[in-house]
Amino acid sequence: MDETLTLFSLQGKRALITGSGRGIGLALARGLAGAGAAIIINDRNERKAAAVAAGLRDEGFDVGIAVFDVTDREQVIAAIGRIEKDIGAIDILVNNAGIQRRAPLESFDERDWNDLLRVNLDGVFQVSQAVARHMLARGRGKIINIGSVQSELARPGIAPYAATKGAIRMLTKGMCAEWARRGIQTNAIAPGYFETDLNRALVDDPAFSEWLCKRTPAGRWGRVEELCGAAVFLASPASDFVNGQTLFVDGGLTSVV
Ligand code: NDP
Repeated sequence: MDETLTLFSLQGKRALITGSGRGIGLALARGLAGAGAAIIINDRNERKAAAVAAGLRDEGFDVGIAVFDVTDREQVIAAIGRIEKDIGAIDILVNNAGIQRRAPLESFDERDWNDLLRVNLDGVFQVSQAVARHMLARGRGKIINIGSVQSELARPGIAPYAATKGAIRMLTKGMCAEWARRGIQTNAIAPGYFETDLNRALVDDPAFSEWLCKRTPAGRWGRVEELCGAAVFLASPASDFVNGQTLFVDGGLTSVV
């Protein structure tokens, strides 16, 4: 392989991707595996994780599973300990698991607010802390947090989600501040609008789709595979001096009014 291309190789690395039973997480898992990484699929449901892993193994990839809910601290610590002991070191962590809740802010349900914070923010803290303790002991690691265009821009109806994703951008910088010197590169990917279950209500709304395609310089929705280039870059030695950044993969949405 060309010397420059080897910088992007994930051969010999192991990546844990949270919430990778479907959607963006599954696409990122497949993308990292395609660049040579062994991957660990995380889902809350053991049967679903096993089925997804079996499918990826059929594609020729090295796949393990880890069943845990990112909001459950005990489950997280136990699962990360098991991976490190029984499967091997986690070199790359992708904090992808996330949820969306939509309602006007003045009537936003408190439980929905709490759920958003629990999954989108507490989950990232908990999994990162558990994994980083092992990475710090080794003096190396890559953490990729999944933000959003809502890390930067608000929209009516999703203010609490935007608050969690704005926090992800700052938590990414905070991880950089604390862990960069100790060998961990932490960055975020901020996707624009991608067709997944999370956006089903928007995908099914022709008026929204029309607005989005006009508003996005690229003129269309994103395809989940289009996030893999950024993920491979941030997971690989090609990004060894990149730290604390948020890379927007949004068809230009956040660059243009
Ligand atoms: P999906 O709803 O398609 O998938 C979300 C994934 O997260 C599922 O696998 C889900 O598991 C998992 N998950 C949810 N809660 C938990 C939990 N408590 N513990 C473990 N896993 C959990 O969403 P997307 O793929 O669209 O989104 C993935 C990430 O990308 C999210 O962080 C989202 O905010 C972000 N994002 C998405 C955009 C888009 O356009 N789609 C745009 C910008 C950011 P289960 O199947 O069990 O529910």
